[in-house]
Amino acid sequence: MHVSDFVAGLPKAELHMHIEGSIEPERFIELARRNGVAIRWQSVEELRAAYHFENLQDFLDLYYDGCRVLQTAQDFHDVTRDYLRRAHADRVLHAELFLGPQGHTSRGVPIASVMEGVLGAMEAARDEDGITSGLIPVVQRHRSEEESLVMLDALQPWHGRLLGFGLGGAEVGNPPAKFAEFFRRCRALGFKVVAHAGEEGPAAYVREALDLLRVDRLDHGNACVDDPALVAALADSRIPLTLCPLSNLKLQVVDSLAAHPLKRLLQAGLCVTVNSDDPSYFGGYVNDNYRACDEALDLGREGLAQLARNSFEAAFMPDAQRRAALAAVDDWVARASRRAVH
Ligand SMILES: [Zn+2]
Repeated sequence: MHVSDFVAGLPKAELHMHIEGSIEPERFIELARRNGVAIRWQSVEELRAAYHFENLQDFLDLYYDGCRVLQTAQDFHDVTRDYLRRAHADRVLHAELFLGPQGHTSRGVPIASVMEGVLGAMEAARDEDGITSGLIPVVQRHRSEEESLVMLDALQPWHGRLLGFGLGGAEVGNPPAKFAEFFRRCRALGFKVVAHAGEEGPAAYVREALDLLRVDRLDHGNACVDDPALVAALADSRIPLTLCPLSNLKLQVVDSLAAHPLKRLLQAGLCVTVNSDDPSYFGGYVNDNYRACDEALDLGREGLAQLARNSFEAAFMPDAQRRAALAAVDDWVARASRRAVH
């Protein structure tokens, strides 16, 4: 069996994916027309070309334009359902989705449209395809902590349908410490908590996210490699890292995938996982990330299977579901090796 087919059939969870970063050009154009939103690209082809941006600012321009075309609950439903359909096709059994409500409410979109659209699509995907998913609203770190507390309150009617809360956005200059009270309240409410840290920021931000915010999982966390004691502590605690290799390449967090710390961290015993971040913008969905990593880092089937196992270990899912998912990985590995022999 070719490694590409091995990846295609490998059961996995995806734990770091922003709904706003998964809008494909066709859907983008359709939403702009549907809502009468003026955009600077006239066709799918023009827009597809724009997706090949070369710097952070071009990406952000496109990303914020992408958010502008999202207006109604149906829009949020459609983009969420699109992603979950593609994830299901990549044999993602379980997905944990990021959503940035502040980017929508600040444009005047009612919070209920955002939440009901997204949550409805997640339920539809579970009923139609059997893929389970959970929602993790992410507050934007360039905004004040006060605003994050307002968002936490505004989401109160949906608290029972959320997995946890996260922190994202422009990292440098906005350390985790800025949101200590927000995280304390989320934890007190019983939510899982995660934070983007150590993507462009230093290892000290990763430490802060662990020690001060007491996160259950780190998003990215790449910069931990600069601090050997931190790497050892992460291996020991098995606090998971949601790595996003193609995103890191596109945003030049690494010069090449061969230079990505993924394999080193995997071999050091950390619970690292592979995810797509903003798949429509960063050149690939989760299986594209697995394949690109195997090619650049020679992970082999055992390494790829370990990443899939880690994804279920790291997922916020009930233990019975976790055991079933891990058994499905073992099953696939065994089937693939039998096929290699014959
Ligand atoms: Zn992210």
